[in-house]
Amino acid sequence: MLKSISGLKIVDSQKPGPTITIIAGTHGDEVCGIKAFKKVIPNLKLKKGKVYFILGNLKAIKLNKRQYQSNLNRMYKDDSLIDEKTKQSYEYQRSREIMPYLNDSEALLDIHSAMIKDSIPFAICEKPFIDIAKVLPIKTIATGFTAMEPGGTDGYMFSQGKVGMCIECGNHVSDLSDYNAIEAIYSFLNYFDMIYLPIQKTANVYFIYKTKNNFKPIKYFKDFEPIEKGSLIGYDGDKKVLAQKNGFVLFVISRNKPDKEAFLLGEFI
Ligand SMILES: [Zn+2]
Repeated sequence: MLKSISGLKIVDSQKPGPTITIIAGTHGDEVCGIKAFKKVIPNLKLKKGKVYFILGNLKAIKLNKRQYQSNLNRMYKDDSLIDEKTKQSYEYQRSREIMPYLNDSEALLDIHSAMIKDSIPFAICEKPFIDIAKVLPIKTIATGFTAMEPGGTDGYMFSQGKVGMCIECGNHVSDLSDYNAIEAIYSFLNYFDMIYLPIQKTANVYFIYKTKNNFKPIKYFKDFEPIEKGSLIGYDGDKKVLAQKNGFVLFVISRNKPDKEAFLLGEFI
């Protein structure tokens, strides 16, 4: 049993499976991951394994700054590689709280964002994990960071032969980074087959109604609203317009002229 730390939420399926760590706020002003945690964690149902969701640099998050005293993402390396002054920092101490969770995990996703306005989302990982990075909502994958910038979370995992991955989601405060952070969490967990993704449905439309004179729906119909065979959809002049089969309606709209498209009927296949 690991020592409990602040900024940690555990989602545990209670079933055997992978243990994954997901970190947000390694840099405190990179808020997209922090926002994503609030959206994802309360609704997350795992089919197996467990996830450690960790807010990285708690002090920097509170101040909405990149760091408090030092860069947390340079601390995940051996003590012998860190100077004495840096060891006095909050970030050093925080990294030592987080490390046991990384040691206990087989894969890590660390969520970042960028200061640059038009920042292109990309993933950071070492070469063996490129295929995993491809599931993330990015089009660019950068390798080689472990050597260039030692002490990152992903490099720490890599040094143990485990999956370590950072995603740069886009500009700090943008719809793009908010979206990518959430997508990254779901796609990463889906890679390990730990979640049920929303079911995608396929539909076939088989009928289009064109007005004889005009068309007035009996009510407002939502797109893909289910409808039963024989039920009333609306009136064309004074003639009833009925559903021909069980299925759904789509694009139902009032029309006041002949030969206009008034709705579609379809069914899920
Ligand atoms: Zn960052």
